[in-house]
Amino acid sequence: MRALVISDIHSNLPALEAVLAAAPQYDAVWNLGDIVGYGANPNEVVELVKKLGGIIVRGNHDRACSGTMHFSDYRNLSWNASAAALWTQKDLKPENAQWLSNLKRGPLRPLGRKVACVHGSTWPEDEYIRSPEDASRALSKTRAWIVFSGHTHFQGGWSFEGRKCVRLKPVYGSGPDAVRYDLLLSQEGRYVLNPGSVGQPRDGDWRAAIAVFDDDQSLLTWYRVPYKVLAAQRRIRRAGLPKGLATRLRKGQ
Ligand code: ZN
Repeated sequence: MRALVISDIHSNLPALEAVLAAAPQYDAVWNLGDIVGYGANPNEVVELVKKLGGIIVRGNHDRACSGTMHFSDYRNLSWNASAAALWTQKDLKPENAQWLSNLKRGPLRPLGRKVACVHGSTWPEDEYIRSPEDASRALSKTRAWIVFSGHTHFQGGWSFEGRKCVRLKPVYGSGPDAVRYDLLLSQEGRYVLNPGSVGQPRDGDWRAAIAVFDDDQSLLTWYRVPYKVLAAQRRIRRAGLPKGLATRLRKGQ
């Protein structure tokens, strides 16, 4: 069984189309949320994500953009994020807003106890996993072998084996084409793994990020895929969204 793990598409249609074209064969899609927010193509992205199917965890931006976020959580959004959420609320077709508002909170478990899929952390759902302590806390609240988590827009993760904790970060050669990095997973270890962000990477690499999990081979493969970033930027500017949302795409920040 091979799962395509995607997260944080953020209404970036050129990035989503590029990763789908570059992805190897897969049997299932595990989507870790933040389908919309920031980018200029929320309806097109929602409609493509619906077609892809699979399991889908709700993200904080999916709640903000479909109007289902609790008002006290809005203060955690930056000015750009709030402005984009308001723009997206207006742009979304009612049926797409409705669909987003019905997405489920993580953890979702596509492989029984083996795997937990969350947007931020196992609890609370919007917590960022940025440190070994955060990762260890996320694992302490589940019996899953692997927690797949998005939200930070950083590709990588942590492994825990006995008392040893290792930071995992893919290292790529340079080149214009899609690149990949394999990580063999140990049955004795436990993992927090982040596929990175499809539509707004923040780890210094502008290329769209995904991961593929091969259950039979206990193998995780991270990918970076170049996409038409200029097209995504142009659409953001034309839509009247905050300009910073366009410039950050090329920087990967
Ligand atoms: Zn996000």
